Amino acid sequence: MNLSMILEMAASNGDRAVATVGDRTLTAARLDTLARRAALDFRNHPAVLYLAANHLAYPVALFGAALAGVPFVPLNYRLGEQQLTALINRHPGALVLEEADLDALTDDALDEIDTSDLEGRWDGDEVAAIIYTSGTTSDPKPAILRHRHLLAYVLNTMEFSSAAETDASLVSVPPYHIAGLTNLLSNFYTGRRVVYLAAFDPKVWLDTVRREGVTHAMLVPTMLARIVAELGDREAATPSLQSLAYGGSRTPRPVLEHALRAFPDTGFVNAYGLTETASSVAVLGPEDHRVAFASDDPAVRERLGSVGRPLPGIEIEIRTEDGTPVEAGDSGLIYVRGEQISGEYGNRSVLDEEGWFSTRDLGHLDSDGYLFVEGRSDDTIIRGGENIAPAEIEDVLLAHPAIIEAAVIGVSDPEWGQRLVAVLVGSADPDEIRQWVKDRLRSSKTPDTIVFRDELPKTETGKLLRRNLLAELENTHA
Ligand code: ATP
Repeated sequence: MNLSMILEMAASNGDRAVATVGDRTLTAARLDTLARRAALDFRNHPAVLYLAANHLAYPVALFGAALAGVPFVPLNYRLGEQQLTALINRHPGALVLEEADLDALTDDALDEIDTSDLEGRWDGDEVAAIIYTSGTTSDPKPAILRHRHLLAYVLNTMEFSSAAETDASLVSVPPYHIAGLTNLLSNFYTGRRVVYLAAFDPKVWLDTVRREGVTHAMLVPTMLARIVAELGDREAATPSLQSLAYGGSRTPRPVLEHALRAFPDTGFVNAYGLTETASSVAVLGPEDHRVAFASDDPAVRERLGSVGRPLPGIEIEIRTEDGTPVEAGDSGLIYVRGEQISGEYGNRSVLDEEGWFSTRDLGHLDSDGYLFVEGRSDDTIIRGGENIAPAEIEDVLLAHPAIIEAAVIGVSDPEWGQRLVAVLVGSADPDEIRQWVKDRLRSSKTPDTIVFRDELPKTETGKLLRRNLLAELENTHA
């Protein structure tokens, strides 16, 4: 089985609109014709490189590559010339750079082309896509995703994706991010029309939800933060919006609570996953959000900080550094196993003999099986021999009303090995902030230094680039 199965399903209802960008819409029949036409060219190339924003050519290129049986490689088109050149040289292939005028191609002209010999090229074990990780802990790694991994994801998320004829899904992650790819696939599979914005802007996002009658939306936490900042004390007034999925990095609790107030009739979904796991492996669904948000019991409310339970078909285990499973409630490394997990880079697989993949994230499962992510193990700071997860301190800092963003970095120190520097966006008295943390955590977790900035370095999907901050701080605070 190959991803082109999803195209075939969509094409069985040819007049249906499958994607909208601005005032342009693509029907399933037209997508099918265009993808077949593209596949005839693509099959003469070793890969299809997609170097553009989200637009109607995205599904054409993706399904064209699937029909041709060649890997689809969406790259970050905003990278600098040198980085892009290196990537293009690493992946020789056909380039899709920008959208041609798809409307200028008449159906008649396309229908005359014989694409019958594209059939029968389907093999689930072939490479469907190569997606680069976000590069927050090291240089981006090319994760190999086979057709069977991506199809397993689509099937594992079915229960969250049933769709009515009028459903429309607004996807606000870029095409080169794993969630951009998997969202497109599950929307096409379930029959939801996908709506893309040319560029993210909170006002445009809200207007689009209202204008297009968007029923489902997917975004990253920084976008959610910008939307709630735009709304202030107002409610969103988006009656069509049934569900709002967020994830890809930690969402500050104040942002989530603000969003829950602003979208009182929308179901929230927190999705946790990695590029190597074909996106989400655990989700916290609408009912859990509702119950936790409505509760005054701190233990129940705590669940707003969870990424939920494993998807069907996914197992999650927490283990110590030496691989021993731990008890519920204890923290350790998060391991995952299931059909959608690739764990493969280039020619190298990092799955163990039993198929388990170490996410290198730290976390714990509570006694009901809810997963809590505590940050990346690679970000652990060792201060005077004590292991400190910066995310725990950042959460406390973000709970302070005057702090908008926070990053805690371990900077080399001759006495302590590393010391804690908190880089903050907002304005407050540093001594008061230190006291705020000390009152809530141990003094060994109180930042040694507090620095204020106008903004923090982030990827385009809003992930904090700690290694950039560290490099900068090592120079200035050495
Ligand atoms: P690299 O592997 O190149 O350092 P990266 O890990 O940031 O980059 P991705 O695969 O895009 O690359 O990100 C996966 C990571 O994002 C997870 O390991 C986890 O740390 C974080 N993450 C994803 N979803 C969530 C979520 N819902 N809540 C908290 N953290 C999340």
